Amino acid sequence: MRAAEMTDVSSPCHLRVTRGRFAALKMPILVIEDEPRILAFVRRGLEAQGFAVDAAADGASGLRRARGGRYDLVVLDLLLPGLDGLTVLRELARSDPALPVLILSARSDLRTKLCGFELGARDYLSKPFSLHELLARVRVHLEERVLRAGPLELDLARRRARTGDAAADLTDREFRLLHHLVRHRGEIVSREQLLADVWGYHFDPGSNVVDVCVRRLRKKLGPTAIETIRHVGYRLAA
Ligand code: CA
Repeated sequence: MRAAEMTDVSSPCHLRVTRGRFAALKMPILVIEDEPRILAFVRRGLEAQGFAVDAAADGASGLRRARGGRYDLVVLDLLLPGLDGLTVLRELARSDPALPVLILSARSDLRTKLCGFELGARDYLSKPFSLHELLARVRVHLEERVLRAGPLELDLARRRARTGDAAADLTDREFRLLHHLVRHRGEIVSREQLLADVWGYHFDPGSNVVDVCVRRLRKKLGPTAIETIRHVGYRLAA
């Protein structure tokens, strides 16, 4: 793709105003795109907004990575080597129906667009595209996003969690800790991992801030909301 096909505009003010909303979360986004220049362009834009970007350059590896609940959103090209994007989309809609997929494709005909929506795409943006439009659409889909782990629901925009009858507003740390556990649902996450991801590496590894935060979350969401794996860490049901 030529540079001219990746259009951009000067930054509208609303981008600056809303930028911080997801910036601290490092929300993981997977970009499945085989064109290195477009991938670099999209990656730079998303990372500048605070997202953590992973990439796959073909359909099969993209599908493999996208499965399993690690990502909050997928940006998907359609013309891909190996498995084409529409097949990736169909398979993802079966295995991870709640995962929002935004198609970013040079195919701009109505038939392909409608096919994409029918197969489960949440959004469709044709190339050439504006980076700012892509970022705006990504934000809209993330604002509507509710993640699930077992009986627990985490509302990303409202920063609220619900499990059974208990629902609670979360502080920033509580939200980030829970978000990390939800993303790794079914896995044991160590205190060290949580310290690094939620508090930052400068924190004393001997600190008990993780345990204190987990205790607060259990008070809000019930004693069984987060499982303790003795001497190892914490886990949420898958
Ligand atoms: Ca392509």
